[in-house]
Amino acid sequence: MAGLLFGTGGTPHSAETRSTIDGIKRIAELGLGGMEIEFVRGVRMGEAGARLVAEAATSLGIELTAHGPYFINLNAHEPEKIRASQERILQAARIGSICGAKSIVFHAAFYLGDPPDEVYNTVKKHLEEIMQQLKGRNNRVWIRLEIMGKPSQFGTLEEVLKLSTELEGVAPCIDFAHWHARTGALSSYSEFASILQQVKERLGTTALDNMHIHVSGIAYGKKGEIKHLNLKESDFQYAELLKALKDCDAKGLVICESPNLEQDALLLQETYNTC
Ligand SMILES: [Zn+2]
Repeated sequence: MAGLLFGTGGTPHSAETRSTIDGIKRIAELGLGGMEIEFVRGVRMGEAGARLVAEAATSLGIELTAHGPYFINLNAHEPEKIRASQERILQAARIGSICGAKSIVFHAAFYLGDPPDEVYNTVKKHLEEIMQQLKGRNNRVWIRLEIMGKPSQFGTLEEVLKLSTELEGVAPCIDFAHWHARTGALSSYSEFASILQQVKERLGTTALDNMHIHVSGIAYGKKGEIKHLNLKESDFQYAELLKALKDCDAKGLVICESPNLEQDALLLQETYNTC
């Protein structure tokens, strides 16, 4: 992948309609480089529609990824809920890869009061089953576990990096806003650079060349994330992050999840280009 691309989580607000294809067109008009398709309330796109999405993205040179449904818990205590979660991820991976998405991002699990190391093993086991299925279907899409913003959610930096080293085809989605909300830290250049350094040391230079990043402003409290904010209304030090990304020569896709979507995506891109 060439350099670092910037895009929005979902269709930009200023697109002609809410459709994915109009979203891709608007991304291109704005001079952005990518878009994450939001399957967050379920995959409501068929194969034919996905092929049209792929055509639009290819012809306009827009990089795509997809965000899997929110209704997933690989640590659910009921076997049928585990199976349903796995099915949702597989469905997002199937349609996403027809769209030409490079990665499928999702929120893996809730701890539900279980010890984190047990949850880790449970998530790993169920994720391994998913990876086996994808391999059997010859689907090479990256499965990306997101760093989560609440202490009740599985997805610390350590958990996400460890699973990425242990399972082939699994990679991190570094959500810097979530990690900031969860830890109350992470507002300085050195903290951002240290995360990027860990990615490089544990997953290799290839991982740094193929980053998938979420950024937004964020409001947080004792229980972590409260809600996403626009960057300038938050304490998130995005300029420091962008400088660290540039200095570490990170490549890949930065998806902006601020409420104003494309405005902050453009702000990030401009700041990156001039820092
Ligand atoms: Zn997410």
